[in-house]
Amino acid sequence: MNYISTRGLAPVLDFEGAMLSGLARDGGLYVPETFPQISREELLSLRGRPYADIAFAIVSKFTDGSIPDVDLRKMIDAAYATFNHPATTPLKQLAPNQYLLELFHGPTIAFKDVAMQLLSRMMDWSLAKQKRKAVVIGATSGDTGGAAIDAFQHSKNASIFILHPHGLVSDVQRRQMTTVTSPSVHNIAIEGNFDDCQAIVKALFNDLKFRDDVGLAGVNSINWARIMAQIVYYFYAALQLGAPDRAVSFTVPTGNFGNIFAGLAAKRMGLDIDRLVIATNSNDILDRTLKTGSYTVTGVHATTSPSMDIQVSSNFERLVYLANNNDPSAVRNAMESLKQSGAFTLQSGAIKSIRVEFDSNATSDADAAKTMAKVLAETGELLDPHTAVGYAVAQKTSTNSPMVTLATAHPAKFPDAVEAATKVRPNLPQRLSYLMNAKETFKVLPNSEADVKAYILFHA
Ligand SMILES: *Cc1c(COP(=O)(O)O)cnc(C)c1O
Repeated sequence: MNYISTRGLAPVLDFEGAMLSGLARDGGLYVPETFPQISREELLSLRGRPYADIAFAIVSKFTDGSIPDVDLRKMIDAAYATFNHPATTPLKQLAPNQYLLELFHGPTIAFKDVAMQLLSRMMDWSLAKQKRKAVVIGATSGDTGGAAIDAFQHSKNASIFILHPHGLVSDVQRRQMTTVTSPSVHNIAIEGNFDDCQAIVKALFNDLKFRDDVGLAGVNSINWARIMAQIVYYFYAALQLGAPDRAVSFTVPTGNFGNIFAGLAAKRMGLDIDRLVIATNSNDILDRTLKTGSYTVTGVHATTSPSMDIQVSSNFERLVYLANNNDPSAVRNAMESLKQSGAFTLQSGAIKSIRVEFDSNATSDADAAKTMAKVLAETGELLDPHTAVGYAVAQKTSTNSPMVTLATAHPAKFPDAVEAATKVRPNLPQRLSYLMNAKETFKVLPNSEADVKAYILFHA
């Protein structure tokens, strides 16, 4: 299967190439040239099967023979053996037609484990086969870094460097990164904010010589392999709710648009999805875009759902590409305008086609807190603040189909906000009880591309 850049000026790659490069060399994002289809018969045959079986059925369509079946199956089994629930991503009913899909039973208790545990194994496999080494680099506002470090700590062929903003991630989030002792794991605390971290990572990727010299690989959700792994749980949930005989809707707490794009991919593969609902916090660029057709960057502000505090939603570029009938020149124009003026306007055909499939809404911190308290009182369930943003939006969306809200983090990952909203302080799961007393290791560096580059060259 071929993967092509949304900007149309980078080499066409196979699955392994797209996975190992992350960002395309023209600054675009890789997408499959066409979406593989899943038939009604195949869906019926997957009903009631374990998560790993469904993962194999979906993922193997995208890897398309580049990873032999036995190897792929082993990697999938090992990835989801790290999850602490026999259903991997259990589906829970909260009210008539309202469901939660719990994606937080992995090692770092946020949904990013689902993709990262598989990605690290596939990358390591591929690097070993090609007798290559890689330097994995990523910027994190909290959850991506921990998930990536947990997943890559045992990698034989990749070392990993994660940049986080010094003093701006939560204690649990920082400790999940800095208490991992593997010599191939490097934590860098940047004296700056998350945007500064991301800008340094982007600059390193755009330095094509440095990129090639160290074998730079990206694990942010610009990496297609992450999106691919996330497609699986849309199928898994829909099959439990009656697919292919009944349509299902999803509400997704959204930041970088990776998770919900996986939902669109599932739909393009043939899953009957009724509504895909974008839920944002007060950093509502995507909700405004859906409502006005204009993607306009404004300032970011801190909310109780920090993993969605973003200004530029990278994966939206993949939707811009599809909504413009796979026209890379439309994407290039939009991205050029974004760079020049901090905004672009979707063509009327493109925004119309987006509205056919997506709804959107924004939720304030106050509404998210009310939702947490209400759900606890009515069902006994504690939601994390990101999931609460999603659930609040799901309640405002009218559909006749079952509505599944993706639960993206365990409440104990954001204990202060949960306690403030509900008066209940969630406990860390047993497997993380060591965290608050373990020794931390990280390097503080100034907000400087040159310093980070030198640090990587020295330690890689
Ligand atoms: C990363 C993250 C999100 C946002 O996901 P995107 O794929 O960036 O839209 C939402 N909730 C939590 C808890 C996260 O860690």
